Amino acid sequence: MTLLQTKDLTVTFQTADGPVNAVNGVNFSIDKGETLAIVGESGSGKSQTAFAIMGLLARNGRASGQALFDGQDLLAMPQKALNKIRANDVAMIFQDPMTSLNPYIRISDQMAEVLTLHKGISKGDAITQSVRMLDAVGIPDAKARISSFPHEFSGGMRQRIMIAMALLCEPRLLIADEPTTALDVTVQAQIMRVLADIRRDFGTAIILITHDLGIVADACDRTLVLYGGQIMEEGPTDDVFARPSHPYTAGLLRAVPRLDRDDDALLTIAGEPPDMSRLPAGCPFSPRCAAVMPHCPTDKPRLDGFDGNRRRACHLPKDEVA
Ligand code: SF4
Ligand code: MG
Repeated sequence: MTLLQTKDLTVTFQTADGPVNAVNGVNFSIDKGETLAIVGESGSGKSQTAFAIMGLLARNGRASGQALFDGQDLLAMPQKALNKIRANDVAMIFQDPMTSLNPYIRISDQMAEVLTLHKGISKGDAITQSVRMLDAVGIPDAKARISSFPHEFSGGMRQRIMIAMALLCEPRLLIADEPTTALDVTVQAQIMRVLADIRRDFGTAIILITHDLGIVADACDRTLVLYGGQIMEEGPTDDVFARPSHPYTAGLLRAVPRLDRDDDALLTIAGEPPDMSRLPAGCPFSPRCAAVMPHCPTDKPRLDGFDGNRRRACHLPKDEVA
């Protein structure tokens, strides 16, 4: 069952140089209880896609197209109805929990407020539920520690607290934007495990936004690759990793450290991320693509389906993608 579906989602910013599209006609969906990774380098439009869905775009940004949540278009919804969905059904967490946690208020009060406000339950019950949620995300000794202040926790523990807070209202969709980027590798793995547990225990659908394909492999059912605000390819994560069908994905995968390969073989993709105000009319990746053909910069490849559950936008034959 489809939970969220975008139709021709476009995000336009008014800038001094005129309108610039950060996201350009993106179509994707996520099912109930599914985990979808949206990957790409910084500036690929991943976060703006999420902000558009959440109604959190910066003042000079505007979203068009549709974002259907359970069939209701979030982009066309009156503010009050949108606030209700944001409070109850869709939650978002960010890279730096300190931007969302108030440093001067005890965790217990911050968490309880979410519940007393949105669910109208007593503070005592709210604290009980909050402790249970902190337990669920692996905060040791949650009952005693819930009255601490945010700075009394490590970065990894703060991210767990953010996740617990986001889950208090039992959202059906959790959007996690680079949730592990500020953390070291061991803690990253722990947070990914927390997200997997949440999905298992609560059936929450998760959109994981990341530049790091390395954390996606075990965690996500499907992977969507964005470049220049457009979908380059999409498919089941295992298939995309085993057989990337787009040179950009292949490049991202070569940049992932692997145990079976010498780290000297780690390659970053040459060239700069795209200037969104000067994208080629054709393939957005063409200025950096090692396999570029003469017609690529002017002739936009269609996002075509193949193998039943995959899509790709590239003029190169699939079996020639290295
Ligand atoms: Fe490279 Fe051309 Fe494919 Fe774009 S369409 S990724 S430039 S081969
Ligand atoms: Mg971002």
